[in-house]
Amino acid sequence: MRTKIVAGNWKMNKNMEETEALLAELSAKLPDTKAQVIVSPTFVNLAAAKRSLQASTIQVAAQNMHFAESGAYTGEISADMLLNIDVDIVILGHSERRAYFGETDELLAKKVKTAIEKGMKTIFCFGEELEDRKSDNHFSVVESQLKNALFDLDAEAWKSIILAYEPVWAIGTGETASPEQAQEMHAFIRKTIASAYDASIADEVSILYGGSVKPDNASDIFSKPDVDGGLIGGASLKSDDFAAIIAAI
Ligand code: PGA
Repeated sequence: MRTKIVAGNWKMNKNMEETEALLAELSAKLPDTKAQVIVSPTFVNLAAAKRSLQASTIQVAAQNMHFAESGAYTGEISADMLLNIDVDIVILGHSERRAYFGETDELLAKKVKTAIEKGMKTIFCFGEELEDRKSDNHFSVVESQLKNALFDLDAEAWKSIILAYEPVWAIGTGETASPEQAQEMHAFIRKTIASAYDASIADEVSILYGGSVKPDNASDIFSKPDVDGGLIGGASLKSDDFAAIIAAI
């Protein structure tokens, strides 16, 4: 049985008071669930989020981190700094990091390696752009993103990987992949991992779908056999919506 996960990517939203308020609301509304629930506020509010959630099962993830141990990397955050405030999950490779901050598969391979070495869990995001889908290249794009960033990992490392397939054309656009498109790609991802490693690794890795998941489409998407949950952007900023999405898993 794979772990079901619903993770909220808050992006560059919510100040400290708003972070605490949203987490208090969410804790009060949290439905009974076997799924792992994760929230990812901005770096400056991670410590406040951890404090607010001390008595909660909700886990906290960072939205990014640097691969280096420490040193002259102005503006960056290391794995040890996150671990020091008990944050041991990190989202890497989000399409906004790739598009606006030039993160490449090669850079992401280094970041994932550091996360693994530090004992952190990674939510690794990837997915094709609209042009790739229109030109029928979406499978090969996804395959190369996985291969370039993750396929140097050893089998053991995969226990610390959560995948998040996020077609770029569906992020923040209100347009979702259909449940069938999500299922088709998730099955392809599993097949690709099975041929690079083996079937048990492919069967055990949780694959989340991300891109305009809302309360009204979540249960259809989550009902697909290879979809193990979601990475939620906009709808994770509203406690009612996020709680409804969690209830849908
Ligand atoms: P969205 O964002 O749910 O607002 O489309 C998803 C994401 O960027 O992870």
